[in-house]
Amino acid sequence: MIQTYLRQLVAYAKAYCMLPKADEYYTFNRLLLLLNLDDCGPEEPIPSVEGMTGPDAILAPIVEYALAEKIIAEGQEEAFSARLMDTVSLRPSQVAAAFEEKKAELGLKGATDWFHDYCEKTDYVKRSAIEKNLRWDAKGEKADLVITVNLSKPEVDNKKSAAMLHKKPAGYPSCVICRQNEGFTGHGTVRDTLRTIDVTLDGTPFFWQFSPYAYYYQHAIIINTEHTPMIVNTTALRRLMDFVDQYPHYFIGSNAALPRIGGSLLVHDHYQGGLEQMPMHRADYRTVLSAPDAKVKVGILEWYNSVVRFESDDRDAILATAASVIEAWKDYSNPALGILAETNGEKHNSCSPVVRRTETGYIIDLILRNNRTDETYPDGIFHAHPEYHNIKKESIGLIEAMGLYILPARLNRQLFRETAAFLCGAPYDGEALAEDMKIHRDTIELLLARHGNALTPEQAENAIRARINEVCEAILKNTAVFAEAEEESFRAFILGCL
Ligand SMILES: [Zn+2]
Repeated sequence: MIQTYLRQLVAYAKAYCMLPKADEYYTFNRLLLLLNLDDCGPEEPIPSVEGMTGPDAILAPIVEYALAEKIIAEGQEEAFSARLMDTVSLRPSQVAAAFEEKKAELGLKGATDWFHDYCEKTDYVKRSAIEKNLRWDAKGEKADLVITVNLSKPEVDNKKSAAMLHKKPAGYPSCVICRQNEGFTGHGTVRDTLRTIDVTLDGTPFFWQFSPYAYYYQHAIIINTEHTPMIVNTTALRRLMDFVDQYPHYFIGSNAALPRIGGSLLVHDHYQGGLEQMPMHRADYRTVLSAPDAKVKVGILEWYNSVVRFESDDRDAILATAASVIEAWKDYSNPALGILAETNGEKHNSCSPVVRRTETGYIIDLILRNNRTDETYPDGIFHAHPEYHNIKKESIGLIEAMGLYILPARLNRQLFRETAAFLCGAPYDGEALAEDMKIHRDTIELLLARHGNALTPEQAENAIRARINEVCEAILKNTAVFAEAEEESFRAFILGCL
């Protein structure tokens, strides 16, 4: 009977979502109401919830029942699941209070681990969907990159996010990360079970939450309480440092605040943080530019794109030095290298600062970016070049610039199924490719020329991964404002700031 699943959901919430025993009947009755029921059903043994990592197995039969009974229509499954989970979860204020209690009981890292687990258990962080994503390490020339094919997140169009920046906020909430989304469902967003934690950064109220898509482990989003545009400047850097002072086990970084080189959401000031070490974090210096006895060690990173690293145990000194580079970069032009700070009144230079705490101090990495376009590269000169757009055409934001790729779900079918079939002997005719496979024609023909068409499925998969790895490395190099051969200019720019 359906009521047995509702009882099981209550048992799950008691075990994993801190549902107080005193709220048990109340919660069961609220669930009955959601399913238009007014009796408790027969007493049946409740299946065990032991060892469950998420509520999927309990939600599935309840959602199926709601569909069959026409309580919900097709397409409302996700929203209904979230409503069920919200009914058995703590209110936002209770979660915030529990976070403080966990901090006292388990320490700060224990508390953030608990909060992350809580968001998974209430299914806000979609653990089961995330586990289905493809993920592998790519051996690279400079470092191992991490490639993921995200099967749950829609692909974003660059031009659309640029257009969004100029769009006046309309409706409620103003955008998808505004705090008013806590508990909101509508316009295609489902945020019933969103829970957030307050944090003050440089005197400004922010809050943070986990990303439901989780590009990496404990992917946190740190958001300005006010709906105000992204900006990368000295204040932003001070805020990032304030965050790692309060959460020293997380890294935090900001997307560049211009279209084509940043995230998809420029209209609302926010940062990204997390527990995972990014490939770029593991890179070492290519060249150290500061004097051996300088308070701040400054150098160029041995990395694909243009990164300046700063290290110091002196907070004021590292802040001042990194800020001087951020400010100088805004106006830096070097026409010989195609770097123009401004054309037709439009500014092109921005950067992505990434901050971490060390045992004794701080590390700041500044990824220098430029978003200019021209006739040859209408999507961006320092963006993935057109020959790679079949694999990645979205902007290369902060996370990818650090070497962790989030590739679109479509590749799972287009490359790992359809292209793989050609490599395993399916007849190939470039002219007869399906419409959405035409973008892959060059890739398919390159792979056929390299490997022939008699591969085993495993060999085909490896060949495709190797090509993706190659492309991801090449894209990172495309984003370098100073190519490796232009190191002299890069050094001169940095030295001029010190
Ligand atoms: Zn907003």
